[in-house]
Amino acid sequence: MATRTFDAVVVGSGPGGYVAAIRLAQLGKKTALVEKESLGGVCLNWGCIPSKALIAAANLVEEIKGAGDRGILVDPPKVDIAKLRAFKAEVVKKLVGGIGQLEKGNGVEVLKGTATFVGPNAIEVDSGGEKTRVEAPAFIVATGGKPVQIPGFEYGPDVWGAREALELPEVPGRLVVIGGGVIGLELGTVYAKLGSKVTVVEALPSLLTGIDPDAVRIVQKGLRQRGVDVLVNAKAKGQRREGGSLRVTVEVDGKEQVIEADRILVAVGFRPNTAGLGLEAAGVKLDGKGFVAVDDRLRTNVPSIYAIGDVNGPPFLAHTASREGETAAEVIAGKKSMRDWVAVPAAIFTDPEVATAGLTEEEARKKGLDPLVGKFAFAALGRAIAIDHTEGFVKVVADRESKLILGVTIVGPEASDLIAEATLALEMGAYLEDVSLTIHAHPTLAEAFMEACKAVLGEAIHAINRPERPRKERAPAPAGS
Ligand code: NAD
Repeated sequence: MATRTFDAVVVGSGPGGYVAAIRLAQLGKKTALVEKESLGGVCLNWGCIPSKALIAAANLVEEIKGAGDRGILVDPPKVDIAKLRAFKAEVVKKLVGGIGQLEKGNGVEVLKGTATFVGPNAIEVDSGGEKTRVEAPAFIVATGGKPVQIPGFEYGPDVWGAREALELPEVPGRLVVIGGGVIGLELGTVYAKLGSKVTVVEALPSLLTGIDPDAVRIVQKGLRQRGVDVLVNAKAKGQRREGGSLRVTVEVDGKEQVIEADRILVAVGFRPNTAGLGLEAAGVKLDGKGFVAVDDRLRTNVPSIYAIGDVNGPPFLAHTASREGETAAEVIAGKKSMRDWVAVPAAIFTDPEVATAGLTEEEARKKGLDPLVGKFAFAALGRAIAIDHTEGFVKVVADRESKLILGVTIVGPEASDLIAEATLALEMGAYLEDVSLTIHAHPTLAEAFMEACKAVLGEAIHAINRPERPRKERAPAPAGS
């Protein structure tokens, strides 16, 4: 068996691994990046990127259908799904190709094959039966995660995971989505807009657990307007094909009911890709939930091995994996980097979109704080009215005494882009005045964040400022469709 030696080796080329490899090379390390499938991992191939291509296309269908309201008279659109699939594949191909060029341009050697640790300083890479031993003083495990499976719902032509749904095999007449989390709602919305009758089955009392309940209400209204039925407190128990239909058994509030469907999409969370990696051979410890345990410098218990991204646990976000990749590379190169960021933005591409950074109102209260809270509705914003997307709001949570911004939730048009300013504000330790005194271009959606900060101070210009009312406990978003 041939032996190759590098300064550092990254296993897995998702947004964690490919970024780590580039950063290592920038820092002068002779680096190898090992990948068994396609460069870019889940995010580029079967996740973030193809889903955004489909979401944008589905939005376009909806915009065209609604164009008559603005005096643009067009025939109802027809969707050529083969062409849409080809467009999505082209988007993915372009980005995957770009990563290959970036690695090459930075001097990173890409090794195609499956890596298995054989010790703390060596892996074997199996490329279709041909094995190479690869040695290095530092390894980064960036193998990501995969969907959790539920018994009785094995993936196949009838039961899809996100990956199968993103292949867009067809637009089923009736689609049951199991899991009212991020993937379930993003892809459920796509299929609803393309014409499927979608039913979402969520085990917990509310969709999008962890998101501000006021924002969830707006998302739920959007689903309802698109004909999506939502069942909460509903656990999927099993499914079977009977005649032309799939019969999905669901336990709702303790009682069984059957939903008929043509296809089922299961999106009930992620688990780490650690099986077969040989981590035991290297002596790497996992935490109680099976994720690779790391410290704030992304170091495992084995000094030569680091782990970044989904494989080390939540949040399962491409951008945290990337930052962890840069951080681990810098630690390997002897820099004083660590996971010390203040705010991690999250963006959910439902309709409307939801984006968050920092604490929600509920999280702030759970921490024993009595925060100031202000909200500004897009319905009062010139740009939102002009583009005919007035749903949602920006909510800002701030420390009562100091007026330090603690968290921002945005639900509404372009929330995923708007959260960048809020994340920067949090990272820079901004106070409400810092944002409210910053001139924002008019007319833009970004003005909503400035107005929300002013609203907390009782100084919003385009809303009536009312004195703070005594707080009432809010119920979770209503169940049903
Ligand atoms: P999730 O954790 O967001 O949601 C899964 C949901 O399934 C939960 O609400 C859970 O209560 C429910 N559930 C579990 N078992 C069930 C059952 N038997 N019946 C009914 N409901 C059940 O997971 P996901 O949507 O699969 O996404 C996986 C991960 O990837 C998440 O952490 C997500 O944040 C991340 N992700 C993020 C983005 C983004 O940032 N835009 C996009 C895709 C995925």
